[in-house]
Amino acid sequence: MSVCVGLDVGTTGAKAIAIDPDGGVVARAERGYPLSTPRPGWSEQDPEHWWRAAQAALADVSAGREVAGIGLSGQMHGLVTLDGAGRVLRPAILWNDQRTGAECAEIEERVGLDRLIALTGNRALTGFTAPKLLWLRRHEPDVYARIARVLLPKDYVRLRLTGEWASDVADASGTLLLDVARRTWSAEVLEALELPGAWLPPAFESAEVAGATIACDNVSQGIPVAAGSGDCAAAALGVGIDHAGPLSVVLGTSGVVFAALPSFHAEPQARVHAFCHAVPGAWHAMGVMLSAAGSLQWFHDRLAVDVPFERLVAEADAWAPGAEGLLFQPYLAGERTPHADPRARAAFVGLGVRHDRGAMVRAVLEGVAFGLRDSLELLRGLGVEAEAARVSGGGARSPTWLRIVASVLGLPLETTAAEEGSAYGAALLGGVAGGVFADVHDAVARCVRVRETVEPDTTWAEAYEEIHGRYRALYPALKGVENA
Ligand code: ADP
Repeated sequence: MSVCVGLDVGTTGAKAIAIDPDGGVVARAERGYPLSTPRPGWSEQDPEHWWRAAQAALADVSAGREVAGIGLSGQMHGLVTLDGAGRVLRPAILWNDQRTGAECAEIEERVGLDRLIALTGNRALTGFTAPKLLWLRRHEPDVYARIARVLLPKDYVRLRLTGEWASDVADASGTLLLDVARRTWSAEVLEALELPGAWLPPAFESAEVAGATIACDNVSQGIPVAAGSGDCAAAALGVGIDHAGPLSVVLGTSGVVFAALPSFHAEPQARVHAFCHAVPGAWHAMGVMLSAAGSLQWFHDRLAVDVPFERLVAEADAWAPGAEGLLFQPYLAGERTPHADPRARAAFVGLGVRHDRGAMVRAVLEGVAFGLRDSLELLRGLGVEAEAARVSGGGARSPTWLRIVASVLGLPLETTAAEEGSAYGAALLGGVAGGVFADVHDAVARCVRVRETVEPDTTWAEAYEEIHGRYRALYPALKGVENA
């Protein structure tokens, strides 16, 4: 029996899985790599580390198996620059790097904000790829002068795995250089930014074949490799979001509320992102929270390091919704949606003498849920109608957190059998490229199964309506007192 392999090139490591044609996970492997912060706000990785980790993880899941196809997904927005000989020019600059504030302003000025949003579906955000190129032009002109090719993280791994220089429209949407409605590179944006279109690889649809394996330990040659997609679209596909219907809610380190759309639809102020989906003829809109389950991780690491997550959540469970007036604003690392504000910070507001650790955890769980609700409301403003959401990410392991999120969103939350996120979506794409599935819809229909549904609690939902109103007042009230 042949398997479909998905490889996700993440921020902390490369994760590979192999699934059978019914969607069952038969093997998984992960290899970590370091992240360097050469200056505050900078975030870089060595593409060679990605390749070594990817090779090892692929070898682990492929050994002794017949692999029909491989799909790639990865951290979005990262910039890899190559010279004319295909050598990496400098460490990759990642999605969470904050150095490009001035270049973002320059892009919005050069293209015009309204035009930029109409073409790319987004504002210029510091993490995106295009501002990084402008930063190199200004600050590292010697490197800039030698650039011959530009690649996204997973596409660098593809280059090593197949020798092919290629990308896909879903990942390319995060560069700020794609005409998202037309699913092709934007000559207008490239010209306005004076960037050569020849640097960019061809952008395929996600399930199209974009290369075949040439050299990798334990992986045979000639296996078709799908174009793949950015991690957000792959994760949504992996929980079965292949058409407008249920939303995808990711309760990972960062949080995502994701809706598939039948046409390109940018929110006028671009407070939610509009990107191509990993499905031909589909787009998606999504709100992104930078610290979702990451907020609980922070609380755990800094204030309760020896306490398991389950116990922290059990302590929170002892408190009623709202924890007697305690609110948490979860902007530990700035925010994207609904306030695109890298300088925003987190806060506990309303602490009283009765509050204990459990109350603070309850406020964290609820504050994250309110942040997701803000994204949901922006999506509704775009005309998105959703009656349920598929939930994934580490936070979805907590029944209490799921009940809170379901009650705050007012939606049933469905968990799916496979917990592999982006790598699972990548494996589905690999299966299409390898001929195991007819197309992405066939892959989803055959593989993705709902495991459990968590309904909103009506009493909690009523309480949260009022509390969400108070939560929303926090950001404007605190903005005036942030640290300059
Ligand atoms: P990433 O987005 O980095 O891949 P995950 O999706 O694996 O991360 O989510 C990790 C997060 O999940 C942790 O930071 C933690 O906050 C949360 N988490 C893990 N286990 C539990 C649990 N049992 N209950 C609640 N939250 C949990």
